[in-house]
Amino acid sequence: MKSKIVIGIDIGTTSTKTVAYQLNGDLWSESEKEYPLYVPDPTKKEQDPEEILEAVISTLSEVVQKVSSKDGHVIGVGFSSAMHSLLGVDDQGQPLTNVITWADQRAVQEVEDLKRSGEGHDIYIRTGTPLHPMSPLAKLIWFNNHESELTQKVQKWISIKEYVTYRLFHRYVVDYSIASATGLFHLKTLDWDEEALTLAQIREDQLSLPISTTSILTGMDPMYAEQIGLSVDTPFVIGASDGVLANLGVGAIQPGVVACSVGTSGAVRSVVDRPITDPEGRLFCYALTEDKWVIGGPINNGGIALQWLRDSIFPELVEKAGQQNPYDYLMKEASTVPVGSDGLLFLPYLLGERAPFWDAETKGVFFGLTLHHEKRHMIRSVLEGVMYQLQMVVRVMEEAGVTPVEIRANGGFARSNLWRQIMADIFNTSISFPENHQSACFGAACLTLKALGEMDNLDEVLPLVNITDRQTPVPEQASLYEQYKPLFYRLAHKLAPEFQNLSELNQRIKG
Ligand code: ADP
Repeated sequence: MKSKIVIGIDIGTTSTKTVAYQLNGDLWSESEKEYPLYVPDPTKKEQDPEEILEAVISTLSEVVQKVSSKDGHVIGVGFSSAMHSLLGVDDQGQPLTNVITWADQRAVQEVEDLKRSGEGHDIYIRTGTPLHPMSPLAKLIWFNNHESELTQKVQKWISIKEYVTYRLFHRYVVDYSIASATGLFHLKTLDWDEEALTLAQIREDQLSLPISTTSILTGMDPMYAEQIGLSVDTPFVIGASDGVLANLGVGAIQPGVVACSVGTSGAVRSVVDRPITDPEGRLFCYALTEDKWVIGGPINNGGIALQWLRDSIFPELVEKAGQQNPYDYLMKEASTVPVGSDGLLFLPYLLGERAPFWDAETKGVFFGLTLHHEKRHMIRSVLEGVMYQLQMVVRVMEEAGVTPVEIRANGGFARSNLWRQIMADIFNTSISFPENHQSACFGAACLTLKALGEMDNLDEVLPLVNITDRQTPVPEQASLYEQYKPLFYRLAHKLAPEFQNLSELNQRIKG
């Protein structure tokens, strides 16, 4: 008998990953295709929708072929995708713009204006998308302000996932999850928010029809079905966004289970059973299903801070590392430094910061330098700074009503035992490490199983996720960090106005 196979596709910012799983969660085959990020000026971060569509088709074809060749049968396919993307299409569905990604910063001024007017905060409370240039709401206001002629021609404003599903199924639909990350979608009514639409100067018929994340699309365009190697009747589940599906994919779906990922950037997320927004606007709230929501916060400066030390600050250490992985060498250096880096703190805001301040003007700071400090202290303080920041977001989630009962962590940082230990000590709790089976793809595959009736309840995902490792805090180390933490938080808050002053000064000097 043929093995039943379910496929998850994750349309990410640097690549599309497509993974096939057996119904017990075992990975069967996978394929990944990268595409470029276009940066026409430093504020703009765009992608070509055709290149992404091509990556979806080619990775899916490759995986389907591998499934067929090993006697598997694809019972369904589900989508995950990055949030906050926006593109305009004409009445034939042809793109009039590139994909404007979450990383695009063109709408900085529009966000400032929204913050100043107070309108923005009310919209955040209703929509759950923090006020930030990543938000499609802010991008639409930017298009009205700067590209009014082009804006007139746009028939629909959609995300990259909607573009892909439109091309495959000829329908403009958007799942509640991607819709909930646009800044235009009312969390409680699960429909477009009229006031937000007015602010963005768009009509509802210029947006897709919002549908449940477990909705099934069938009747694929026969040309694509043939190219991919699937029947036109194969069920495709619209799915959700990468962040919320990553929680599902690591089994962090029960109350108080917090997923922390630290790759190049980082994020903390937890599933709640109703939409929750923060009176101070510090957390996001996005839909997973009609009755499950994910609240949390992303940080810009995760592993990128260590990468910066490796590439820009201490390249000679990389040379010293020789055959060894340069990160392992940096970690060995850092491990010779005591907890707290002998009084050196690092505020990791090299790329500005999102949660919890949502302030693009924050900058990196080494605080407490003395003649005693060496490179190795700086390395350790960078590792500590990233974790203090992540823990700060968890504290804000606690204020919002999440009582952490378990922290599940993943991402590139977990390759280092030292960094894992620093996390356990700073969080002052044991950290679990789930096995890596591409969490967003796996989440998309699991949601597909739920949509197809192969799972009655999402909790059935839990036994499919193995915890491969745990790191527990060392009490003396954790207690030292407890003493440093308040200083880190105070510095981060006290310096906020000075970062603003520095930016204004920089602008004046540059003219
Ligand atoms: P992405 O977020 O781009 O998918 P990863 O999850 O692979 O990336 O994380 C990349 C980050 O992980 C790097 O920037 C680096 O800080 C960290 N990292 C990678 N390898 C190691 C290692 N051996 N030791 C410590 N940190 C590492």
